[in-house]
Amino acid sequence: MRSIDAFDKLALLSRQMALEPADEVAGTPGAPAPCGHSPDALSRIFGDDPLRASVSLSETKKNSLGIHDAVMPGGRRIRLLKTLLTSACERNCYYCPFRAGRDFRRTTFKPEEMARTFAELNRRGAVEGFFLSSGIIGGGARTQDRLIDTAAILRRKLGYRGYLHLKLMPGSERDQVLAAMTLSDRVSINLEAPSQQRLNVLAPKKIFCEELLQPLQWAAEIRRRMPPPRSGRWPSLVTQFVVGAAGESDVEILQTTAYLTRALGLQRAYFSAFQPVHDTPLEGLPPENPWREHRLYQASFLLRDYGFEFEELPFDAQGRLPLDVDPKLAWARLHLAHAPVEVNRAEREALLKVPGIGPKGADAILRARRERRLREPAQLARLGVITTRALPFLLLDGRRQLSLGL
Ligand code: SF4
Repeated sequence: MRSIDAFDKLALLSRQMALEPADEVAGTPGAPAPCGHSPDALSRIFGDDPLRASVSLSETKKNSLGIHDAVMPGGRRIRLLKTLLTSACERNCYYCPFRAGRDFRRTTFKPEEMARTFAELNRRGAVEGFFLSSGIIGGGARTQDRLIDTAAILRRKLGYRGYLHLKLMPGSERDQVLAAMTLSDRVSINLEAPSQQRLNVLAPKKIFCEELLQPLQWAAEIRRRMPPPRSGRWPSLVTQFVVGAAGESDVEILQTTAYLTRALGLQRAYFSAFQPVHDTPLEGLPPENPWREHRLYQASFLLRDYGFEFEELPFDAQGRLPLDVDPKLAWARLHLAHAPVEVNRAEREALLKVPGIGPKGADAILRARRERRLREPAQLARLGVITTRALPFLLLDGRRQLSLGL
C-alpha cells in the first residue's frame, strides 16, 4: 500500500512538472520546474521519447511517473526517473511555477521514502537512472542535506550503482558539494542568468556569486585538487540559463558560459527559452523565440568543441546571434567565402571551422589524407562530412567544387 501511495505522489509531481501553467498540456515545452529545470530542458538533456520497455508497470503508469527515455553524455540511452523531493518551496522566483504562495497541491517525499521508491522502480526494471531535484524548504543547506540523504540511502543502504544526477541547491555548503559529488555521476546548479543584474529580474532573492556560482566553483576546485572517489572519477558539472526574460544579450550568456567552461570545466550549459507561467510575476512577458535557444546551443558548442574564440561569434550590434542562420555558417560566409580551405593541407583547427565538418569529420580527413589526396566530394562524404554545407568553403586538390546535387 505504501508503494502505491509513493507512486501516486510521483505521478502528482510529474504532472506538476509538466502541466504548468494552466493552459498548457502535458509535455508542452517550456514550463520551468524547481530551480529552473523546465520539463523541456530536462527532455533536451535526457531525451523525451516516452518509455517503451515492457515491465510490470503499465506504459501509462510509467509515463505518468516521470520516467523518460534518456540520452547519457556518451550517447547511451537509459530510462530515467526525473523528479523532485518536494514541490513545496519557500522562495519566490518570478518565473517558477513552484514559487511560494502559488496555489496548488504540494507533494513531499522523505529521503528514505524517495530512495526506496526509486529502488523499487529500478528493481522492477522500469528505470535505470535518476535525476533528483527539489524545491527549497528550511534553506538551501537543509534541503541539500535531504537530497544527499536520499542519494546516500540509495547508494549505501540499497546498493544502487546506476546513473544519478543530483541538484545542488542555492546556498549549499562546500562539504555538501563534496558529499553530493561523491555520490553522483553529475551535479548541477542553475545560474538562471549570466549576472546578478539579470538574475534580479528573474529571482531577486537569489545571490548570484554566493549562492549559485560558489557551489560550482567548489565543485571545480574539488575536481581539480582532490583524488576522485572510489568510482574513479568525479561527476560532470552542468548548469542552465533561462533565456529571454531578463533582457540579457547572447553576448552576456555566452561570456558567462565561456568562463564556466574554461575556468570551471563545465561540461555544458543548457539554455531554456522563457515561457510565461500563469500566476507568476512574469506571466505577462512574451515567450522567447525557441530559435534563440537553438542558436545559443550551437554557439556554445563552437566555443567548446570547434576552437572558436568568443570574439569570432557573429553577434550583431545588440549582442545577439542571428536567428535565421547557424552561427558557424554566418562566420564562414564572412571569412571563408573568398578564402576557401584546402582539404589536403589545412590543419585540424581550420577544418573545424568549415560548416559540415565536425570533430569526427576533421579527424577522419586528417587520417585519410595520410593515405591519399582527397579530390572528390564523395571521398569527403564517406568520411562523414556534410558536403552540401562544406563544399562552398573548401578546395579539393586546389579546385572548388559545386555543392549542387551532392
Ligand atoms: S528556488 Fe526558485 S526556482 Fe527553485 S523551486 Fe523555488 S521558486 Fe522555483
